[in-house]
Amino acid sequence: MAGFDCPGCGGWSRRIHSSYLRFPADVPSGGRRVVLCLRVRRFLCPATSCGRQTFVE
Ligand SMILES: [Zn+2]
Repeated sequence: MAGFDCPGCGGWSRRIHSSYLRFPADVPSGGRRVVLCLRVRRFLCPATSCGRQTFVE
């Protein structure tokens, strides 16, 4: 299972808090319109002293 570094304290988190789909605005690409569909995962920081608590990848 993948983890992610917390940008606040550098801690390594493997705990996924939640995930959701995000649809950013259409991106022009070479004259064509490309619709992006991103799954964004939100992680829980393992450090209780970290002020971020949660962060997205
Ligand atoms: Zn942290």
